[in-house]
Amino acid sequence: MEYFLISSITLFLILLGSFFTVLIYRLPLILKRQWIKDSEFFLNQKNLILFPKKDFNIFLPFSHCPNCLQHLTIIQKIPLFSYFFLKRKCAYCQVSISFCYPLIEILTLISSLIVIERFGMNLQGLAALILTWGLLVLAFIDFKHQLLPDIIIFPLLWCGLISSICKFFVSSEAAILGACLAYLFLYLLAKCYQLLTKVEPMGEGDFKCFALLGAWLGIKALPCILLIATVTGSLVGVVCYLYDKNSLREGIAFGPYLALSGWIILISQAYL
Ligand SMILES: [Zn+2]
Repeated sequence: MEYFLISSITLFLILLGSFFTVLIYRLPLILKRQWIKDSEFFLNQKNLILFPKKDFNIFLPFSHCPNCLQHLTIIQKIPLFSYFFLKRKCAYCQVSISFCYPLIEILTLISSLIVIERFGMNLQGLAALILTWGLLVLAFIDFKHQLLPDIIIFPLLWCGLISSICKFFVSSEAAILGACLAYLFLYLLAKCYQLLTKVEPMGEGDFKCFALLGAWLGIKALPCILLIATVTGSLVGVVCYLYDKNSLREGIAFGPYLALSGWIILISQAYL
């Protein structure tokens, strides 16, 4: 029975990871389409849309190669297995398949199992899983597109505040203060830096992402989250610069480091 339960959970998590790969790939494209559509409406201009006007959402069109647009067969859609079965290349055009796909599936599985092991299969564990999955998706979207979508950030922030009512991780006072002060601190820091240097150090998505971590983990966790995110982000930045001096030309996304740092603090809460 236990073996069946573990196998079912593992299978579910791998399938969920596979859904996250679709979400991470498609959500920024869906949002960009929507923004262009909105601009078209506000500017009263036609034909601003640069994309084909076919249905495009999380489910349609069916899974396909982003290069040759050939639809994938069921065998080619099996999470993890298909990446290695296809020898990391599209079966039709032979273009390499990004390592991000299996990486997201593996990270979903491992991080979820760690959360279940730490918090158990109860409501607190479910709340920790929701935060883990949200942070994982945000981290990859920001890494690839330098974008932290409100459509994920805000629901996650509200869930954090609701979880504080149940005192899963922190009290409501700590959560409300954490969310407000996290946003204000990064906002003021970024604006002062911008005033002095005329350079925008981070986007508004980073303020909101920090606020959502404040809502989940409370005001006391904020210095630690910021410290770990800054140290890891700086280390990766230095390594990238040493490897390729042009790699930082477009800036470095701070979201993945905030997400990683918040998740580390979340897991460490299980020991408190
Ligand atoms: Zn292809």
